[in-house]
Amino acid sequence: MSVKRILMIGNELLRKKAESVDFEKDPVDRYIRDLRDTLRQTQRKKRIGRAIAGPQIGCLKRIVYMETKEKRITMINPRIVKKSPDTFEVWDSCFCADVAFFGKTLRHRAISVEYTNESGEQIHENFTDDLSELFQHEIDHLEGILFTDRIIDNQIIMRSEWEKLSSS
Ligand SMILES: [Zn+2]
Repeated sequence: MSVKRILMIGNELLRKKAESVDFEKDPVDRYIRDLRDTLRQTQRKKRIGRAIAGPQIGCLKRIVYMETKEKRITMINPRIVKKSPDTFEVWDSCFCADVAFFGKTLRHRAISVEYTNESGEQIHENFTDDLSELFQHEIDHLEGILFTDRIIDNQIIMRSEWEKLSSS
């Protein structure tokens, strides 16, 4: 197990632009293991969350790891190459905000992403709806952008209120 500490909003590392991963020089397997172990433990602790990006554990590399019951995706050096003009509103939060509150954000309905997977293969994949907004959030982390930068209409609610919304 290699669970890392998740940085909290205010930590300046979250505002740095991450560097490209170099398959020749970088310990890619270690990055993936750190992200996976940290994500799994945080999912258990917080009972929420689908993905994590390198900068969230202070690893300033362009890598995102997603794991849900249905799916696992490792994105290395991801690039959004297409965004739908169509947008939708999302109540978003982040482990870096301790998932304590949610903010209303506007995200593209669909995106196309080019990335390298954990085996070094080039992937071009389209995502819509929940996965589209998820990867927009994660790829923002690689640019030092946080969901709080994208909140519209000053709409913030605490997690307990969000849970009422999502259960109704
Ligand atoms: Zn986040």
